Amino acid sequence: MIPSSHQEIARFRAAFAAMPDAARPGIDAELLDSILDAAGRLADEVIAPLDAVADREGCRIEDGRVKTPEGYKAAWAAMAEGGWLGLDQPETHGGSALPIVLKAMTTTLFDRACPGFGMVCGATASASVLLSEHAPDAVAADWVPALIAGTRAATICISEADAGSDVGRMRTRATQDGADWRITGTKQWISYGDHDLTTRIGHCLLARTGDAPGGRGLSLFLVPSTLDDGRPNGISLIRIEEKLGLHGSPTCALSFEGSRGILLGTPERGLPQLFTMISMMRLQVACQGLAAAARATEIAERYASERLQGGDPAVPPVAIATHPDVARQLAEMRGKTELLRACVLQLAALMDRAAEDDGAQALAQFLLPLAKAHGAEIGFDVANAGIQVLGGAGYTKDWPLEQTLRDIRVAAIYEGTTGMQGIDFLERRLIRDPRGYDLFRAGATGSVAQAFHALLEEVRPAPAEVRLAVADAMLRAGWYAVCEWLAPRLPSDAAQIAGDLEDSFALHAARVRRGLGDGGR
Ligand SMILES: Cc1cc2nc3c(=O)[nH]c(=O)nc-3n(C[C@H](O)[C@H](O)[C@H](O)COP(=O)(O)OP(=O)(O)OC[C@H]3O[C@@H](n4cnc5c(N)ncnc54)[C@H](O)[C@@H]3O)c2cc1C
Repeated sequence: MIPSSHQEIARFRAAFAAMPDAARPGIDAELLDSILDAAGRLADEVIAPLDAVADREGCRIEDGRVKTPEGYKAAWAAMAEGGWLGLDQPETHGGSALPIVLKAMTTTLFDRACPGFGMVCGATASASVLLSEHAPDAVAADWVPALIAGTRAATICISEADAGSDVGRMRTRATQDGADWRITGTKQWISYGDHDLTTRIGHCLLARTGDAPGGRGLSLFLVPSTLDDGRPNGISLIRIEEKLGLHGSPTCALSFEGSRGILLGTPERGLPQLFTMISMMRLQVACQGLAAAARATEIAERYASERLQGGDPAVPPVAIATHPDVARQLAEMRGKTELLRACVLQLAALMDRAAEDDGAQALAQFLLPLAKAHGAEIGFDVANAGIQVLGGAGYTKDWPLEQTLRDIRVAAIYEGTTGMQGIDFLERRLIRDPRGYDLFRAGATGSVAQAFHALLEEVRPAPAEVRLAVADAMLRAGWYAVCEWLAPRLPSDAAQIAGDLEDSFALHAARVRRGLGDGGR
């Protein structure tokens, strides 16, 4: 039911080849082919068969532990054996030291096959990046190879009942106990907070250590589910959430009762340090959106070429793909998907250069909220459009599109809601620290980019509450400026969408101007 990875791989090859030389990391064509082909085989043969089972069975609690759906353990072992959990990690820790661009492509292939399973892989791989950067050497040397080998897994452990978008309100506390830290509090909505894929799980957890209000008093810890000698570390599973979708990913409430934690990095710098992991996970959300959009587009295209309806009643019906309105919907789906693909590859390529190049780092930070938010939105919109193309069949469980729609809905919520991405984009990336935007402007000289800059100049002097009211519209207007910049790389069958960019931009620019006129009401 989920089409093989074949076409998706071809689209990645084409999108990678279309990147300007300066933006494209040096990857040997043979290496690119072998990595994509191997990832495609794993996605098709091992991961895709999990998708329907994960949705139907979900995760459940047995004897106080989360039991994952049938087939997950074998898939996890295959992920680890193939080296996919450490693709971009240094060889010293057992990784393959390959570019993040390759990781973005393979992550998309895996998430296109089964996003619920991909959640544990994404958190674990992103934790490796965090620990390599911020953990004491001995801790990194102990944990990162184990995460790459799949003998341990990891979570990102931030949210609490009263601390969702407002991270600074968290109440979980860490207190010093000799050389140790003890963590006490309740965390909520933790993806794979517990499971049966590994015996040990490392929670990359924020907790309050200082009295400074907001995010300033937060420090970062690694809190293992078990101690080094195998005894439990005072963490109990309270429940797993019942959700709209993504049933194959257990969303856990966890209680920490004096659990031992290892301090990562500098005390009270926890939140900025955790951004190493958050950035990787936001890239993954963009990949999840691309995966959902690509899967929906391919299913809809095939269905529309085979489903016969309409035409002259005197002769046999025609394929619905030939009806102008269906062709229009398919073209829009393809165009949005390919724009997102170009954006994901560009962002990943910038993240590859970020460590050595401040400009690449700044430009990546500028693109990240756009890619995260629009990845989520495009994934959902294109899945929705796919259901429309399939008609009644799309609404049934006979086709995987209704599951795709349910599964991808959360992408606009976790890792920072779209509303919070809008505020980050406008307040931080355009106003407070515009280095990335300035670099973008230097390379993006089209009419939409210029119109966006004029719009920003109108927004900049507005009072803070007015700016917050137009942040979402600015995030969407900014997306079309980025799309215009990326459009020359699109394959010809998707490029027609570029013609609509000015109209789409104008719609959101009008929203911004209305918001400015309303004074933020
Ligand atoms: C399936 C799932 C998996 C998750 N996995 C994890 C995980 O692994 N680890 C983890 O730590 N968390 C996880 N989360 C939690 C997730 O990150 C939060 O749900 C998210 O950050 C939003 O917080 P909230 O749900 O409390 O919503 P709220 O913060 O209450 O927001 C509700 C609405 O109000 C808006 N809003 C809130 N504050 C503002 C503001 N200042 N300005 C403008 N608008 C605002 C938001 O944009 C949103 O639309 C997960 C959540 C889900 C549903």
